[in-house]
Amino acid sequence: MSGKTILVWFRKDLRIHDNEILTEAVRKGETVVPVYCFDPRQFETTSFQTEKTGSIRAKFLTECVADLQNSLQKLGADLIIRTGKPEDILPELVTKYEVTEVYHHREVASEETRVSADVENALWRLKINLKHFIGHTLYHKEDLPFPINNIPDVFSSFRKKIERDSSVRKCTDSPRNFSIPPNMESGVVPSMSELGFVDIQNTDERSVMKFKGGETEALARMHSYFWETDAVKNYKQTRNSLLGADYSSKFSAWIAFGCLSPREVYWEIKKYEQERGSSDSTYALFLQLLWRDYFRFMFKKYGNKFFQKIGFKGVAPEEAEHQQDHFELWKQGKTGVPFIDANIRELNSTGFMSNRGRQNAASFLVKNLKVNWMWGASYFEEKLIDYCPANNWGNWAYIAGVGNDPKEYQHFNVLKQAKEFDPNGDYVRLWVPELAAVPGAMIHQPWTLSGLEREKYDLSEYMVRPPFAPEV
Ligand code: FAD
Repeated sequence: MSGKTILVWFRKDLRIHDNEILTEAVRKGETVVPVYCFDPRQFETTSFQTEKTGSIRAKFLTECVADLQNSLQKLGADLIIRTGKPEDILPELVTKYEVTEVYHHREVASEETRVSADVENALWRLKINLKHFIGHTLYHKEDLPFPINNIPDVFSSFRKKIERDSSVRKCTDSPRNFSIPPNMESGVVPSMSELGFVDIQNTDERSVMKFKGGETEALARMHSYFWETDAVKNYKQTRNSLLGADYSSKFSAWIAFGCLSPREVYWEIKKYEQERGSSDSTYALFLQLLWRDYFRFMFKKYGNKFFQKIGFKGVAPEEAEHQQDHFELWKQGKTGVPFIDANIRELNSTGFMSNRGRQNAASFLVKNLKVNWMWGASYFEEKLIDYCPANNWGNWAYIAGVGNDPKEYQHFNVLKQAKEFDPNGDYVRLWVPELAAVPGAMIHQPWTLSGLEREKYDLSEYMVRPPFAPEV
């Protein structure tokens, strides 16, 4: 081959739209080799004895990769799918297809950047360059009004400066078609059992929505949220709700895998504002995307400190003596505090939990049960369909008081929150059926029911643990 052959290493950027590595490779290369590796390290057990990837997210991932392969085939190309370590697989493919350069998007968390470093070293031995692109955030790192190390530790200061001095770049154009090497051996997405999971046939009927991985579904969801249901119009008022598909965007899992570019969402917000008007709600949605940027930039600033108990504040929260027992009950949704149990059960069954639920479940674990916050973060890492290191560990560190929370000791009053955000108890009733007969908001405090009432509502199946019951 005479011209350039560029290998595009897909990772958490499983899309065609606004994907600079793909667009650039098509522009500069005569031939492009798109590759995705299922890295076995993504499916290992962690030092906290949780799985790095639970079955719900694993299934979502397989759907994302299948959709990407399908979309590439429609462009006259294909996707090479392999199982193994990228630092072993990519050099083999480089040699086989006479690749001249490899492109990828830079990650921020240490495990991911270590893999990039190993790939870079392995390619270096072949005298091949690994070119890094920045493409996961709304604001490009180079357009920030401060160097990474000077980014304020308080979000509002970051926001004010960003809004004043920076702007979001336009999305990159999507390629229409391109050439791959003749006889490229593509491969297929591994089955759930090949990845070590039992296949999940049906989604829990109670799930806020059916999450299916892939760019196609992501773009359809975005279209529906903005233009069909017009739900974005009320985002600010509904975003702390707990039931239904449209109280928030539900973009997170697609954004986490890169099926949806945050920049694409940003420009869709702008288009919506032009056509249907701007409001507190469209601004609030933008702010949440900015929070996501913020945690990624914080990861760049503080690196592994987010994976330490003391975070970057230097002092870990207090821990209880029997924290292992408490943790087990929390994980099973059996703490005896219905609002917490409902949220954890939703997570366990569907992979999703609302932001309000995550804040309360995390705060309750750390502040009420006094369990090591890293155990909770690690459990979320396994279970969340939208897990991403910076968002998860950044938010957990925030709630544990070892990260970006500017206040000294924030504590969610779980009972107050339950009554405010689930005033009639409908959310708890959905996820804790043992309590279904308890009327109205009384469902949030089963420990206050008399023996007679407990009998009347048949609460024999629900264990109330008074030591955990939050103060009224
Ligand atoms: P929307 O409310 O519609 O927001 C739009 C987008 O903005 C989201 O899709 C997400 O990409 C981003 N976003 C929203 N809230 C936050 C936030 N607080 N921090 C950073 N980005 C945000 N989000 C993840 O994507 N992955 C995680 O692993 C994750 N772990 C979390 C752990 C804890 C303890 C907490 C408190 C929050 C966590 N979040 C995480 C943030 C947030 O809860 C989810 O992004 C949100 O609930 C997803 O629903 P949505 O897409 O409907 O969000």
